[in-house]
Amino acid sequence: MKSTLAGIGGLFFLPPVDMKQEVKIVEAKGKEKKLVYRTLGKTGLKLPVINMGVMLTDNPNLIRTALDSGILLLDTAHGYMQGRNEETIGGVIKGRPRDSYYIATKVNLPQNRTTGLYTDGATTEEFLKRLDISLKRLGVDYVDILYQHGVSKKESVMYEPVLKALDQAKKDGKIRFAGVSTHGNEPEVIHAATDSKAHDVILTAYNFKQKHYPEVRNAIARASQAGIGIIGMKAIRGAYQQPPTIKNITGSLKWILQDPNVHTVITGFTTFEHIEIDLSIMDDLTLTEPEKLELQKEASIRGLYCQGCGQCLGQCPEKLPIPDLMRAYMYTYDYRSLAHAQDLVVSLNLPSRVCEDCSYCPVKCSIGFNVPKKIRDVARLKDVPSEYITV
Ligand code: SF4
Ligand code: SF4
Repeated sequence: MKSTLAGIGGLFFLPPVDMKQEVKIVEAKGKEKKLVYRTLGKTGLKLPVINMGVMLTDNPNLIRTALDSGILLLDTAHGYMQGRNEETIGGVIKGRPRDSYYIATKVNLPQNRTTGLYTDGATTEEFLKRLDISLKRLGVDYVDILYQHGVSKKESVMYEPVLKALDQAKKDGKIRFAGVSTHGNEPEVIHAATDSKAHDVILTAYNFKQKHYPEVRNAIARASQAGIGIIGMKAIRGAYQQPPTIKNITGSLKWILQDPNVHTVITGFTTFEHIEIDLSIMDDLTLTEPEKLELQKEASIRGLYCQGCGQCLGQCPEKLPIPDLMRAYMYTYDYRSLAHAQDLVVSLNLPSRVCEDCSYCPVKCSIGFNVPKKIRDVARLKDVPSEYITV
């Protein structure tokens, strides 16, 4: 496929391609709406190109509205909001026909946050135990997709105890499809999942702010050719909460969907208005000139998006999980979700004093973040009682 290079920052736009997708006009809340569907690889699931990442909300009415608007896939995780996220979804889907929606959840296991490798306690039994808890919270007998959560190393994608658990869960009818989710070192993870032959779906961070997006794109193309379903995330990178230009939101979503190997995108909207904006891109998925200009403008700004490149990891003598902390910083100041940021910070088991005792910080971030300053800021969340934190 030919690409065209356009504008500041060398941002690529792809020429339109003839891709397999279906269009349906549906009626939602008395209004006609155009929905575009793609097939999620060999799973055969036909999904609208926009679906819901529920991560940032515990508002059942928002989830209800998403489903009533034609969204089919609800994406959550065992760890989101310490389980409340799955419980909220459970309340919404109760009584709805089981074949009228799809659920994806993710199970995490203990990982060394610096090396990205699973550690003691990451067992088949623990994985299956967490899955059972998730099913109970959701009130369902099975989930459609179960991901091993937040993987950044090929050794973790191939980790035998997890592969065994995914296989067992399938045999027991508790999951239909197995997947892996990644928001760091994505190309390595995607290639490993393609080679593993154990994964049906990959959920990956993918957006034009990634310096390495050409590598992500190539890895996705290979995975898609192997029949793996590809779901994009972090497409908007908190653009809902930044000075909200609609062009920025719609352009970001169209940018990822111009890649024919992306089958759908989950978006973490938190308002009713944003559901409408996100779904509106299906009227015409072609990037407009103003949207392209907006993307080019944003591509030239550093912003708050950590690339997950891992360059900083070997540089901190205290072995702090810097990419995770930068993600927590993004959740705080970009997504404006203190609860989500706090969940992440607490899960990192940080020392009581963080970045306060070094006379000199040798960490050089590849995109120039002032790492210790951001860490000191966001690490404070570990000491705030959770009752003071709102979603
Ligand atoms: S200031 Fe923080 S990031 Fe820098 S070396 Fe010290 S502990 Fe590591
Ligand atoms: S070097 Fe910078 S961009 Fe790369 S993972 Fe570390 S904080 Fe993120």
